[in-house]
Amino acid sequence: MLPYRILARKRSGDSLSPAEIRAFVEGATKGEWSEAQLGAFLMAVAIRGLSFEETRVLTEAMTASGETWQLSLDRPFTCDKHSTGGVGDKVSLVFSPLVATHGLPVAKLTGRGLGHTGGTADKLESIPGFDLDLDRDRCLRLLDEVGIAVGIATGAVAPADKVLYRIRDQTATIESLPLIAASVLSKKLAVGAGALVFDVKTGAGAFLSDPREAGGLARLMVAAGNELGCKTSAWVTDMSQPLGRWVGHAAEVREALTTLEGDGPEDLTRLSATLAREALSLHGWDVSLEELTGTLRSGRARETFLRWAEAQGANAAWTRDPVLELAPEEIVVTAARSGWLASVDTRQLGLLLVEAGGGRARAGDAIDHGVALHYRTRLGSRLEAGDELARVYVRTPGRASANRFRGCFAIEEHRVEPPELLREQVKG
Ligand code: URA
Repeated sequence: MLPYRILARKRSGDSLSPAEIRAFVEGATKGEWSEAQLGAFLMAVAIRGLSFEETRVLTEAMTASGETWQLSLDRPFTCDKHSTGGVGDKVSLVFSPLVATHGLPVAKLTGRGLGHTGGTADKLESIPGFDLDLDRDRCLRLLDEVGIAVGIATGAVAPADKVLYRIRDQTATIESLPLIAASVLSKKLAVGAGALVFDVKTGAGAFLSDPREAGGLARLMVAAGNELGCKTSAWVTDMSQPLGRWVGHAAEVREALTTLEGDGPEDLTRLSATLAREALSLHGWDVSLEELTGTLRSGRARETFLRWAEAQGANAAWTRDPVLELAPEEIVVTAARSGWLASVDTRQLGLLLVEAGGGRARAGDAIDHGVALHYRTRLGSRLEAGDELARVYVRTPGRASANRFRGCFAIEEHRVEPPELLREQVKG
């Protein structure tokens, strides 16, 4: 099947046949299509779109492009949760031990930080010894031993996505809903947990800031996931400000541990419990939010976290005394005027932390797990000039400027309603 003809058809807005879509995915995986052809295909899709059926076939072909673990064949009673990424989003670190404590194991391949957002893999690596190498056998062992298995996504699973994501990144074709849905779903379906819950973020710190677009992505992923045989549902949730009080790798593990003993911030606790309830309900278990927050308060979910960390290689000394240090230099960011906190440029906050050493400008860069931001206000709060907005923790003085962080906070004269955390639920 000639790439040229497929490209011309999609450029004209035609619907492609399953065979044509499979030829594209195979061309990407085996290196039979040139990068120019792959880029042109992706651009044609970004402009012309894909029908639901085309998206389903693309997802299926990308899922089949590498290893498929099909976990649900051996462990049907499992789940996975995926967030489209945000600032301070440590929900996976709370969700996983919480649902595992309720008897539902979590299997997950996760990624490193992307742009302004942090990655679960990097957060877990702030724990001394934590080892994210995961193959199917180790995954099954961990699921049986501690009810949680989290690994780093490698090109072995859904290799087509690895090639296509890199080219999308270079060709301004990341922001295409069918391409995002196929990319995310293919990696999840290739692992094959028994149920899947998406947390699609929206707002200033999200990849899709427009709530309508985020809702569209959620509906597409839920429909395609269910069509492809995985019980899937989603929540669209707010990312107009950092989630919880802390941003930064070690700081987020600390905040997750606090939340796992019932002392976490309200937004992180509510979101983690809501997604946990959803995952359990996909398997037919009705566990109330009160029961789930009760489990957090009991400390049992924290114990699950520590047993899991040890099973994945964390130093036993750390699991006995799970302390993680923050970078030593504190920079205090204060309000320049009185008023109401109206908006936070959350994406820019994330980028400033990357610049301060807390993330990667390029793949392969080292990161400083101790770099952190303590978010000390909330949208809609009343502030007086001089009040603390945030505290930034860096390794060396001069690595961050209070003024640049201050510029991320807009203070207005009139009170602005804070956004709803849970914006829309999307069921299959
Ligand atoms: N994350 C992914 O894995 N894929 C996308 O396309 C966007 C975000």
